[in-house]
Amino acid sequence: MNGFAFDTVPSIVFGSGASARAGAIAGRFGRRAALVTDAGVVRAGLLEPAVASLREAGIAVAVHDGVVADPPETVVTAAVEAARAHGADMVVGLGGGSSLDVAKLVALLLRSGEALADIYGVGNAKGPRLPLILAPTTAGTGSEATPISIVTTGAHEKKGVVSPVLLPDVALLDPDLTLGLPPHVTAATGVDAMVHAIEAYTSKSPNNNPVSRALACEALRLLGRNIRRAVHHGSDPQARANMLLGSLLAGQAFANSPVAAVHALAYPIGGRFGVPHGLSNALVLPAVMRFNAEICFEAYCELAPHVFPDLAGAAGRRGADAFVEALAALSRDVGLAPRLRDLGIPADAVPILAADAMKQTRLLVNNPREVTAADARAIYEAAW
Ligand SMILES: [Zn+2]
Repeated sequence: MNGFAFDTVPSIVFGSGASARAGAIAGRFGRRAALVTDAGVVRAGLLEPAVASLREAGIAVAVHDGVVADPPETVVTAAVEAARAHGADMVVGLGGGSSLDVAKLVALLLRSGEALADIYGVGNAKGPRLPLILAPTTAGTGSEATPISIVTTGAHEKKGVVSPVLLPDVALLDPDLTLGLPPHVTAATGVDAMVHAIEAYTSKSPNNNPVSRALACEALRLLGRNIRRAVHHGSDPQARANMLLGSLLAGQAFANSPVAAVHALAYPIGGRFGVPHGLSNALVLPAVMRFNAEICFEAYCELAPHVFPDLAGAAGRRGADAFVEALAALSRDVGLAPRLRDLGIPADAVPILAADAMKQTRLLVNNPREVTAADARAIYEAAW
């Protein structure tokens, strides 16, 4: 067996109502919290248990709700300045993946003094950072357990800051916060989490490791067997808890065995056409898996029964193809549009999407099968 390293969040607090324990947890770290979130989370009333608990613990809280989806650099800068003005000695991120990603960068930039422009890429951010607690409201990006923040730079491009210093001190997971998520968000974020597990399991990264693969299998079992219920019966607490746990495990998996071509080809769809991250992934997933199956059909057959018990005997290329078809059917069942054209994306966008995707070298290097520019075009054409 090859050697490997596995880094994850040192403390996980999980359970119904857990966000009301934010004060007790945060009291270990500081007295002045910058709480980074978005306006939708505030409107939904999701902040209240955490903020009340922080204030009861004697912690001064400044809420900054300026995060937007696919946050541009200006959103990060504004959040850093708000936290600085508050004199924050710790950061709490509460929201979807974008809020958590921005919270990570606020904790880092405020304490280390590094410049955002200097830290894109793998291992360039050095820290130190302020204490950091992350509480997700979607299931999800798994951002609460990854060393990654994604920022939109310029008009269309997404860049990642990847560094172990971005792993938080505490992941605080309260499935109650996800009970009100609308079906389309539940579906898209749930498929995103499934993609994290699939890509972690099959990653060509030299650090693909048995811990990540074990987590990926359990994540897929939890996500795949609960996503329909969570989408169609959103108030089911058990389905919501299983989805949130699944997205955490998938996040831990791909934090150490990174994602690949599905994400590389999904980012340009978000960057150019504003399609949410999870839906972008769902749109290219079947075509990328059919492309990869030539190399990693055995791995796909290993994963298949975790999601679909009926595929327990899956073997060979046919088994892998059955897995891909079942995943595509699952996406349709949960209401996700199957093709790029369904979202009004024109066929002549394919070359520009492919050119953008080829810039995602950080991700493409992990794909089990090498993706050329011609391959990227062919995959988008198949997904169109
Ligand atoms: Zn993702």
